[in-house]
Amino acid sequence: RGKRAFIAGVADDNGYGWAIAKSLAAAGAEILVGTWVPALNIFETSLRRGKFDESRVLPDGSLMDITKVYPLDAIFDCPEHVPEDIKNNKRYAGSTKWTVKEVAESVKEDFGSIDILVHSLANGPEVIKPLLETSRNGYLAAISASSYSFVSLLKHFVPIMNPGGATISLTYIASEKIIPGYGGGMSSAKAALESDTRVLAFEAGRKHKIRVNTISAGPLRSRAAKAIGFIDMMIDYSLENAPLQKELSAEEVGNAAAFLASPLASAITGAVVYVDNGLNAMGVGV
Ligand code: NAD
Repeated sequence: RGKRAFIAGVADDNGYGWAIAKSLAAAGAEILVGTWVPALNIFETSLRRGKFDESRVLPDGSLMDITKVYPLDAIFDCPEHVPEDIKNNKRYAGSTKWTVKEVAESVKEDFGSIDILVHSLANGPEVIKPLLETSRNGYLAAISASSYSFVSLLKHFVPIMNPGGATISLTYIASEKIIPGYGGGMSSAKAALESDTRVLAFEAGRKHKIRVNTISAGPLRSRAAKAIGFIDMMIDYSLENAPLQKELSAEEVGNAAAFLASPLASAITGAVVYVDNGLNAMGVGV
């Protein structure tokens, strides 16, 4: 049987989640995605109308098939935690069962189990504010959407993951080095995500034989990255200063994720793997 993957954080064909889905599909995996509720409508409509068909093409010429799209809001663990204003929000009212617990239950009901879990989502409402100007709420929101969301996904999906399975998240070097402009507590959220990768690798490894790794990716012009506002500068900086002077493609991150999710990486867990043209290894720009 081929592997089955659930990829949380796909809402268009520009981000890392989409590229990871493609690389996993090219390697023979069945693809399920979790799409942020407010983005669900436009994503499903675009899929249906063939807007992504060009970017669905796999190396063998076939089109990536997404078996099912689940609505998901990873800042809520169960229906009891959803506040009234969200429940009654027009963008949420059209969908059901989108808390993390309910999505895991739906996937179990539909497919029984999965082998690969990918977390490719982040949100920091105050990301454009320096840390010194970030509010408590903004900071906690960044941690909730970008770090705890991974803990919660793992907590609810590990019970339906087959032993030997793998989980992957996406992080950024701002967790360990100063990257001015990556504010709002997002640098803190990525530091938490990387630390949790180690602790969760231990817990999920011992208990369920599940591997947990994170990819520290270089800059990509995704929807989320454009919202931060400095992405073109970071891409130029990398082009100028990284050991490999080429633009990073989402596919390169997708391929690394496919490797990490595969038996080829069966002894790799608790790792932060850099897929950034080597920029992390530089001490000074030259
Ligand atoms: P993206 O916009 O494609 O992906 C982010 C996704 O998160 C979106 O689909 C969005 O709808 C979803 N999302 C936001 N809040 C959510 C919530 N509460 N519940 C469910 N989904 C939610 O952008 P991307 O840059 O590909 O981001 C994917 C991951 O890669 C993120 O963790 C990001 O921090 C990381 N990353 C990106 C870069 C970069 O330069 N683009 C670099 C390093 C790491």
